[in-house]
Parts: sequence; C-alpha cells; structure tokens
Amino acid sequence: FERKSQPSSDILSTKPTELSPFETALFLSGTDGFLIFDKESLQIEDYNRSLDDIFELDKTVDLRGIYISQFMMRYLAPDSANLELLMNHIPDNWAGEANFLTSSKRRFESSVKSMPFQKDQREHLLLSIRNVTEITRAKEELDIYKEKMEKAAKAKARFLSSMSHELRTPLNGIIGTSNLMLTEKNLPENIKTHINILRYSSEHMLGIINDILDFSKIDAGKLELKMKSFNLKATLDKLTNSFLNEYKSKSIELVFYADPNLEKLKVLTDEVKLTQVVANLLSNALKFTISGKVVLNVKVNNVTEKNTTLFFEVEDTGIGIAKEKHEEIFNDFVQVNDDDLRRFDGTGLGLTISEKLVKIFGGELKVESELGKGSRFYFTLTLDLAPLLQQPKEKIIAPGQVADIRGVRVLIVEDNEINAGILRSFLLKWQTVIKEARHGVQALELLKYHKFDLILMDLEMPEMDGYTTLKKVRETDSVIPIIAFTAALLENMDSLVTESGFNDYVLKPFRPAELKKKIEYYAPHRKIEYA
Ligand code: ADP
Repeated sequence: FERKSQPSSDILSTKPTELSPFETALFLSGTDGFLIFDKESLQIEDYNRSLDDIFELDKTVDLRGIYISQFMMRYLAPDSANLELLMNHIPDNWAGEANFLTSSKRRFESSVKSMPFQKDQREHLLLSIRNVTEITRAKEELDIYKEKMEKAAKAKARFLSSMSHELRTPLNGIIGTSNLMLTEKNLPENIKTHINILRYSSEHMLGIINDILDFSKIDAGKLELKMKSFNLKATLDKLTNSFLNEYKSKSIELVFYADPNLEKLKVLTDEVKLTQVVANLLSNALKFTISGKVVLNVKVNNVTEKNTTLFFEVEDTGIGIAKEKHEEIFNDFVQVNDDDLRRFDGTGLGLTISEKLVKIFGGELKVESELGKGSRFYFTLTLDLAPLLQQPKEKIIAPGQVADIRGVRVLIVEDNEINAGILRSFLLKWQTVIKEARHGVQALELLKYHKFDLILMDLEMPEMDGYTTLKKVRETDSVIPIIAFTAALLENMDSLVTESGFNDYVLKPFRPAELKKKIEYYAPHRKIEYA
C-alpha cells in the first residue's frame, strides 16, 4: 500500500462531498479511526489520521484504492469476533466487536460501527473503528477491584459474625456460672458484690457483642424486620419501667409523655428492633446526663384506616454535642467525647445501628443539640396498623408465679462440656431428672431406652446436628417437646419453630428463670407424677 500524500484533506479539496462540513470536521479530527469505502467497487476511498495511529500505519502506506476485504484480511486478527461478516459483507448500520492487529502486530480490541451515506451519487459506507482495549482493561480492572472489595466486605462481615458467635459460647459459661453462684445460699456480702460485678460486666460484654452482630447484619443488608402486632404504649411502658432503677441510681428523672391516642393503637412492625432504637436513645440520654431529666415523647400525628404516623423524641438535659459533631456521631465506632472515654463506656455503635434501623423503618433519625445544653434525638415513622384480628396468645406464664418443674425428665443434647455443666447444675437444682447426650446419635440411643418429657437440643454438634436429630426423633415421636438451645443468632430465629419444627428456642447465654418457665410451659402435667 503505497501512499503519496496525506489522504484526509482529499475528501474536502478534490472531491465534492455530501457529508456536511461538520461531519467532515468530525471525520478529520475524530479520535476514532474512520474509513470510507465505495459499496459497489468495495474499494477504500478515504480514511483519517486516527486510523493511521490506531493501526500504526507507516507514513508511506496508502490504503486508498485497495479493497475493504484486503484491508480486513491484512489487519483482522485470525480469531477476531465477526471475522466472516467483516471480510465478506458489512451490513449498513451495523455495530459489533472486532480484534485487529496493527502493522507492528500489536493486538487491540475494538468496537466497529458502519453508517451508509451518499457521495458523488454513489453509495458509500463509513466504518468507524474505536480502540477499546484501554476501556476494556480498565473495566476488567474495575471488576477485579470490585470483586476484591466485595470479598473483603464479606470476609469482614463473616469475621465479625463468627467472632461474635465464638465469643458468645465462653460468655455463656461466665454468665451462667455467675448466675449459678448467686443462687447459693449464705453467700458473704462481699463475694456477692464481686459476683454481681462479674455478671454485670459479662452481660455488658454480651450487649457489645450483640451490637457488633447487629451492625454486621445491617451492613451486609441481611436484616429483616419481623412483623408483629402489638400495643406500642404497653411496650414503651415496659421499656421505660426497665430503665427506672438505672435512672433512679443516678438521680435523673425519666418522664414518658405518651399521646392519649397511642393507647388505642395496635401497630404492625418489628417490636424488638423498634424498642432497641428507643432503648438506645434512652440509654445514651442517661449516660450523657449528669443531672436533670430525660423525656421520652411519643405523639400520634396522624391515623388513617391503614396506618399511623408517629413522632418519637428523646430529650435530655445532658452534656450535649458540639454542632460540628452532629453528623459524625452516626458513623460506626465513633464517640465524640474522646477525652471522656473513660467516663462513658460504649462502642460507638449504638447510634449507627439506631440510625440504620430507623431508615429501615422508613424514617430518619435526627439530632438537635448544643454543647452543654442537652440533646434531642427525634424521628417520625409511618407504621401499619394491625388488623383487628385476635393475636395468638403468647407462651408466657404470669409473672410472679414461680415455675415448678420438679420431676420433669429432660434430655440434654449439648456437645460443649461447659454449657452442659451449667445447664446440668440448674436442672438439678430445680430437681428435674436429666440424662445427657453429646450429639444426636447418642441422643437417639438414649431415647430408645428411656422416657423423657422434654428435649433441650443444641444445633451445632459433631456426628449429628440438632436439625437432623429433630427429624429423626419426629419419625417415631411426634409429641415430645423439643426446644432448640442455641448460641447462634440466626437471621430469623422464628424459623427454628416455623421451618425447622422445634417447639421453641432458648438463646444461650440463657436466663435461668426464662428457661425454667419454658420447661414448665412445655411439660406442665408431668411434675405431679414425678415429684
Ligand atoms: P456509644 O454510646 O456506645 O458511645 P453511640 O453511637 O450510641 O455510641 O453514640 C456515639 C457518641 O455520640 C457517643 O459516644 C457520644 O459522644 C455521643 N452521644 C450520643 N448520645 C448522646 C447524648 N444524648 N448526649 C450527648 N452525647 C451523646
């Protein structure tokens, strides 16, 4: 291909063109390679400078006059996409990929487009060839980077979640043992105080672990709301009551202003998570208030047939937050009173979780505060109202009534010796009759030769896990109550009952009174026979 002069100007000077001056300018200056050929003779008529560059053409090479198929044969990579089509017949208005080799045999990926036009009353085709190697490479690199980031985020979530799960098991040992020690009679006062500190600290640690678990779940977008209908006023009454002692001990007044209309409403939402948000705000308000009072205010802004719009507010007379820190406090692991770290414990996750939860509920958690002048956290939510259906009765035994489970025959299926030991101690103290298995296979063996009124079953076990064991037991016994006894916080704990078929579950670390009540609930008629 010999070439005498720069071809690009020819199109303007020597031959009149039906391309507009604008199109011609584009042709000349475009960064894409352009090439024009006559559709009848199939000979190349012109091409621009960028085509020279893209194909690394020698200045002596002239493509004009050669056949388009010759050009393709020379520069298309043998394994190019659309090879046949580009060699033999390029349709009008076509767009596709192709791989070319430059004159110095450098390979590049390109996107090719064709556009028909008239010139000198003859049909022509304009081919544009764009080198997309860089873009493709950048895209690939971006994809790799994105994949790496996703992997890292997943690894982080997995680490946080498995670490928290792992920590829950030894904590179960500490909390369980301190609970157990506290039930000893005639404990000297100072020992009791020590054990109480042990219990308080370990429960506090459990709270932090639960926060981290919650956070990683929300972060991974795995948190689902568990809808339930309930009376919000009653729930918030319970919550504020549970705070009264803590508030009293700091001589801070806690006031709950509930809209008179709130009492009549039964909302349909996630009770636990909504309570968690308000509890966190009340706990922060208490933590950062030295004197004065904290007000929880819930207003009913609107009620329709379907839903209600509620305004929540927690206001304190505490140390306040500097204006420039207002955004920061919602970030993970941020505590703004850095210099006061020792005075106020916490992880800096509470507000992060609360803010994300409020968002999941469809609202926005906001703050108004000035240093030294107290703080006000507030949000508005529109919550569905529960249909006026009778709710299934909760499986709770009246408070105050002491459960009596003497003589109940319990099979403990638990592989962890420490957990089993704590459980054993409580069950023996309550005068139940127990047998123990370390995994499912042993449990099935014991069930063959002994009668039980109830099974407490761990989920993760060697040999045979809790789920499989449950299925096996149910093949021969459809009535025996089986309670999942687990440290694992599943995404949906209720699925243990609704999907896996357990009668109920008890979370480790367990509260002794709660476990006792559940055993009584599921094996109430047995104790008389065996007392
Ligand atoms: P934590 O309470 O565990 O430190 P949070 O995310 O709940 O974490 O709060 C983050 C920070 O915001 C706190 O450390 C504190 O500096 C500030 N903060 C939160 N609530 C209040 C409040 N009611 N008054 C003053 N400061 C607050």
